[in-house]
Amino acid sequence: MNTASAVHLRHHSETVLQEAWNTVQCGNFGTMAMDMTFLGTGSAYPSPHRGSSALVLRTEGECWLFDCGEGTQTQLMRSQLRAGRITKVFISHLHGDHVFGLPGLLCTVSLNSNPDPQQNLGCVDIYGPRGLRHFLRVTLGLTGSQLLFPYAVHELEPTPDQSPEEGHLSLEMTSGHSPLHPQEQPGRTISLDISRDCYLLFEDKKFVVKAFRLFHRVPSFGFCIQECDRPGRLNTELLKELGLKPGPLYGRLKAGESVTLESGRVVLPQEVLEEPIPGRKVCILGDCSSVLGEGPLTLCSGADILVHEATLGNEHQEKAVDHGHSTPEMAAAVARACCAQRLLLYHFSQRYKPSALQKEGDEDSVSELKRQAEEALQDSGIEVTLAEDFMTLPIPLKRPR
Ligand SMILES: [Zn+2]
Ligand SMILES: [Zn+2]
Repeated sequence: MNTASAVHLRHHSETVLQEAWNTVQCGNFGTMAMDMTFLGTGSAYPSPHRGSSALVLRTEGECWLFDCGEGTQTQLMRSQLRAGRITKVFISHLHGDHVFGLPGLLCTVSLNSNPDPQQNLGCVDIYGPRGLRHFLRVTLGLTGSQLLFPYAVHELEPTPDQSPEEGHLSLEMTSGHSPLHPQEQPGRTISLDISRDCYLLFEDKKFVVKAFRLFHRVPSFGFCIQECDRPGRLNTELLKELGLKPGPLYGRLKAGESVTLESGRVVLPQEVLEEPIPGRKVCILGDCSSVLGEGPLTLCSGADILVHEATLGNEHQEKAVDHGHSTPEMAAAVARACCAQRLLLYHFSQRYKPSALQKEGDEDSVSELKRQAEEALQDSGIEVTLAEDFMTLPIPLKRPR
């Protein structure tokens, strides 16, 4: 972004953005809470009633953005999230309705971050298909955009069967040899783990995040966010009986350590911990007309939430597949095959207005898409939800097994 446009932007939206930035820690979001907010649920382009693809998964003070279509930054400002700081970005594929918003969003977040060089802003990790690194270098580079924080692009190597031949990008188009942007840190190049048919993006104490392959007009990916199991609750009654008062020892037991009492009695964590709380699993699929290989169904098995596109109604299946997209019935088949708990439909053609704007006699009804998915899922127990812009879905903790 050049200086003139930066100033222009600052002038018009400073208050809103500053407000967003001030709440970078995602508000008073409690520990263990998790939710998902849709910022855009439309396909192809943003319209006044449906933004293009973007959703935010909030987990314990972090916001992870999945896809970033044009206009995502203004959708963020209008949302309840008020999140100015995004620590990770996941791009499913390089179609414009999923990535045109990314350079602008990075610039605006930078504009509103603290320019104090003493403050070390964390690196934003960006995951996406091969070519994303070059896309950001070119867009940020040509526009003279400098960022106040570092970023790294971790590229996923697609396989040739993820798209028709015309969807393959040449090496020149995705050149990893262009010079790094000044704020760019070297990222990883992640290849398919053939034995597991997936890509390991990262794992830490809280999450394991993997990607899997989809078939679309260009190589597209889905993401599986698996939360690690958590230790169960401490049985405080029993602890009191043992003479242990609340304090640091409770923390050690919870962390799986044994504790020795003054009497010499050793308390083992398994004596005082209830059953572990199973981690939640959220799977978010990019544009696709089918999943590819065994990986997707294995990874998405038993997902608490499966987010799947449904661009067009069942009656347009031929057209949908021709464009690399799915119908509600096709999305339902994936949800059924992996025994998901809940199917969320999104990425609707702009012909489907949000339910609130629908008028009697409208030919294309988004509620009809829901009905079609429900029909396909009869007797499965899988709940179907239509995503709408700004809808927030809490993802509650699971019960111990
Ligand atoms: Zn799309
Ligand atoms: Zn697409």
